[in-house]
Amino acid sequence: MLFPFLQKNYDVVVVGAGPAGSAAAKYAARGGADVLVIDRKKEIGSPVQCAGFLPNASEIENLIPGLVLPEDLKKIPPACILAETSKQRIYSPDLQVKEFDVNGFVLDRRLFDTALAEQAAAEGAQLLCGTAVKSVRSDSDKHTLHLNSVFGQAEITAKVIIGADGPSSLIGKTFGLCRGAETVKSGNAGISSPVLNAGYERGVGFEYKMTGVDIDSKSLEMFFGNEYVPGGYIWIFPEGDGKANVGIGLRHSLLTEKRSARDYLNHFIREHPIAAEKLKGGKITSVIAGVIPADGAPEKTATDSVMVAGDAAGHVMATNGGGIPFAVTAGKIAGEVAAEAVSDEKCGRKLSTAAYEQLWRGEFGEALESSVQARKLMDKFFTSDKRMNAAFKFLPADKFKEMQCGNIPHAVKIGLDLLLK
Ligand SMILES: Cc1cc2nc3c(=O)[nH]c(=O)nc-3n(C[C@H](O)[C@H](O)[C@H](O)COP(=O)(O)OP(=O)(O)OC[C@H]3O[C@@H](n4cnc5c(N)ncnc54)[C@H](O)[C@@H]3O)c2cc1C
Repeated sequence: MLFPFLQKNYDVVVVGAGPAGSAAAKYAARGGADVLVIDRKKEIGSPVQCAGFLPNASEIENLIPGLVLPEDLKKIPPACILAETSKQRIYSPDLQVKEFDVNGFVLDRRLFDTALAEQAAAEGAQLLCGTAVKSVRSDSDKHTLHLNSVFGQAEITAKVIIGADGPSSLIGKTFGLCRGAETVKSGNAGISSPVLNAGYERGVGFEYKMTGVDIDSKSLEMFFGNEYVPGGYIWIFPEGDGKANVGIGLRHSLLTEKRSARDYLNHFIREHPIAAEKLKGGKITSVIAGVIPADGAPEKTATDSVMVAGDAAGHVMATNGGGIPFAVTAGKIAGEVAAEAVSDEKCGRKLSTAAYEQLWRGEFGEALESSVQARKLMDKFFTSDKRMNAAFKFLPADKFKEMQCGNIPHAVKIGLDLLLK
């Protein structure tokens, strides 16, 4: 039986109501499609799995020159902003400091995701929270999604599916649109079962929201060094009123000891010569954890009727784990492509969402790929305190900013190569 407000058939079903999914639903609905967006979370945006930093529009445009910035990244609802930043300060293992300008916002991700979902609803998309997509069965003209919901169980159909279901995307795995994934057909006609191959890079993020800390309210701070965060970095982001998000991002492939992200972060909070002083009065009000793709996009992100966007498609800056700008942009493109494909089909043309691939790659494919290459080079530094300290001596602050954004200037690359010898 269907839930009271659910239809049986939709033009477009979006799986996941994070930034990618809600942007996709918003623009698909604006383009005239009949849209449902589903999330397994009972409350959209909660629990949060993010530190919430978003560079402002001009920073994003400088970082990713090809990006056509969606309105959603230009006008952030003031209620979603916890703090505004103007600087970033980074600390080497031997406590050298570099500082550069970074204008942006620390967002309340729960409110930001809710605001985006409400905008999708205002454009006419139907929202269904508390509902997980468990499997998808595909026929020639439609997909059937099996839903397990707080409202019961149901099957619905979609002409187009947008998988915005995060880094462990069921949709990506089911349709072979993810790193290391291949799709095998089971004996049951048309039912795909996912198989995930290991061997692609992902990070873990673990963070605390803290209150009662004594930090710089306008600066993002980042700390490096193998004692506290082997191969990764620890951040302190201001959240206003003596509050901060204090977190660690690392990759298991770079760890030399069997310690958890939580253990490293606790050690940092207690012992780091600079940070411990700032954080010593702090109390933890929330614990947050999540997975961060670090290897770029899969070879294929679209079929004729399925697209993946955001973390589901590896749309994350591999050098710093930032994914919000890519997620919203890719979601918008996927939503627009979906609406056009459905409208074309209604006019008798063949349904096709294949254009998505070229469109997002045209806007930020190169930036994404450069960030993976930069991450690979930076791994060689992050794993050695000696090399990291030398790079801090050798590079001016603005070059760190460029590298963090995945752009390694040629002169810097030569210098770094020399340091590696
Ligand atoms: C600890 C941490 C800190 C981070 N900090 C930052 C930061 O400061 N700045 C930044 O830009 N990025 C940051 N990121 C990355 C950022 O959070 C992601 O890139 C971003 O959320 C991607 O958005 P998305 O919509 O693609 O996916 P998500 O936000 O992950 O949304 C996916 C949604 O899909 C839903 N879903 C999944 N499977 C199903 C299913 N089968 N059925 C129904 N629903 C499903 C989930 O419930 C979820 O709501 C951080 C990530 C982590 C883990």
